[in-house]
Amino acid sequence: MNIILLGPPGAGKGTQARQIEKNRGLVQLSTGDMLRAAVAAGTEVGLKAKLVMEAGGLVSDDIVIGIISDRIDEPDCANGFILDGFPRTLAQAAALEELLKAKGKALNAVIEIRVDDDKLVERITGRFTCGACGEGYHDTFRPPKVENVCDNCGASDFKRRADDNEETLRSRLLAYYKETSPLIGYYFAKDNLVSLDGMVAMSDVTVKIETILNDRA
Ligand code: AMP
Repeated sequence: MNIILLGPPGAGKGTQARQIEKNRGLVQLSTGDMLRAAVAAGTEVGLKAKLVMEAGGLVSDDIVIGIISDRIDEPDCANGFILDGFPRTLAQAAALEELLKAKGKALNAVIEIRVDDDKLVERITGRFTCGACGEGYHDTFRPPKVENVCDNCGASDFKRRADDNEETLRSRLLAYYKETSPLIGYYFAKDNLVSLDGMVAMSDVTVKIETILNDRA
């Protein structure tokens, strides 16, 4: 089963994708994570993406489409994947359709996670992750049980994203409304969209997503 999670930065796409990965064995494909890894490794793609990401803009369609196309071919994606942060433009959505067709794969659901814009700043600026295992935390909503120690793996190496500040978030939100939000209409018109309320507890969002996936299985 192959699905897309849609929603603005801070909607909870990454958190939910990791949860579905755990529950269902689908692979989380986050273009943001892949690009950050490329930046950290100093690859050609990373060098091209770095400044755009720091400014909260969108990396070129060709780059992200190429990354996703290669990644989907890897054996761990055979059972299905969750696209988190891709597609982000209509051109990416069209390219995804083509490449899934060419690879003989289907798109089973597009799930939009709806959130209140005025809550996004607080959600984004307070979040951080464990650098060792990737577990997600938040200063207010989910601090570690023991200060500075990861609940999941015990490491004390927390990371905050450079673009998780209020100024860059404004640019990321603009990019979302200009380039990505038209995908909601696009997938609605294709009869593939399910929208859900992302302002309820994280675990309740997961339950709703599970119900949608069970319906579509
Ligand atoms: P994310 O981790 O999904 O918030 O992505 C972080 C940043 O990576 C974004 O602000 C963009 O600069 C870039 N990025 C991630 N995915 C895409 C994509 N599908 N298209 C263009 N840029 C992307």
